[in-house]
Amino acid sequence: MPNGALPRFVVASANPHKVAEIAHVLHGLVELEPRPESVGDVIEDGFTLEANARLKAVAICEAVSRPAIADDTGLEVDVLDGAPGVHSARYAADEGTGKGGDDEANLKRLLRELADVPESRRTARFRTVAMVRWPDGSELVANGTVEGWIAIKPAGDGGFGYDPAFIPVEGDGRTFAEMGVEKHVFSHRGRAFRDLARRLDVS
Ligand code: IMP
Repeated sequence: MPNGALPRFVVASANPHKVAEIAHVLHGLVELEPRPESVGDVIEDGFTLEANARLKAVAICEAVSRPAIADDTGLEVDVLDGAPGVHSARYAADEGTGKGGDDEANLKRLLRELADVPESRRTARFRTVAMVRWPDGSELVANGTVEGWIAIKPAGDGGFGYDPAFIPVEGDGRTFAEMGVEKHVFSHRGRAFRDLARRLDVS
């Protein structure tokens, strides 16, 4: 990438926590613009994280006719055969105990499903697909994963989503919600967007 202006992308996510994390990881590498409020919700009904990331990136890219940046994330719990996975945002809604995107209800369901599972069998991972989409239809896709396990009890009030229950194996036993920006040293999102920056040749 030649010296000069940083590449500019419209962020497809409407989730302020996610936007702040993406901005932190890509600080100084790209310029980010918020998603225009006029763009309606994107129905994330793809069967894979990549399909859902693409749905969001394409919707914003087409709405603003400029390059868009998106991600989609899933939590895979081994003893639940990879659930909630691509259904992570609507885990409680799927069983009628919350609405889509209800972080608290999703976390409650997760801990309930694992209530009788011992620590040794609570292994899990976060997976993120990050993507840039340009108006000519070209795109770049990157991936990030972090291995860990699901805590018996939630801890910490930072982060969002399932963070109070996720303990990364590379950490010191704290959940993601007990870390500040340290989370991104090994987080799924940190890894995916750093990989995306390398592919964009801006890292
Ligand atoms: P999506 O990528 O916005 O569809 O998120 C899927 C689900 O995973 C939502 O319930 C989010 O709250 C949750 N989630 C996404 N990223 C993270 C994260 O970094 N930590 C914890 N939960 C997350």
